[in-house]
Amino acid sequence: MAKVTIDQNECTGCGLCYNDECPDVFVEGDGGNSALQEKYRKGAPDTGEIPDDKKACAAQAADACPVSAIKVE
Ligand code: SF4
Repeated sequence: MAKVTIDQNECTGCGLCYNDECPDVFVEGDGGNSALQEKYRKGAPDTGEIPDDKKACAAQAADACPVSAIKVE
């Protein structure tokens, strides 16, 4: 498992993560900002855990995010 967080103060809602890089993990949330797919959430739409086989995709989205709002650890 890997922990994923999306900083809502940084996210601009560009859609790169949930439309292009990793729609398996990310989805458009309130106001167009990024959120985690519901099944991966832990308590909040922007915090959760993903299985190891989704880690590479989430990391790719984190690298592509223009404001470095996504953390995968
Ligand atoms: S790529 Fe970054 S800025 Fe764009 S929607 Fe995803 S988290 Fe937000």
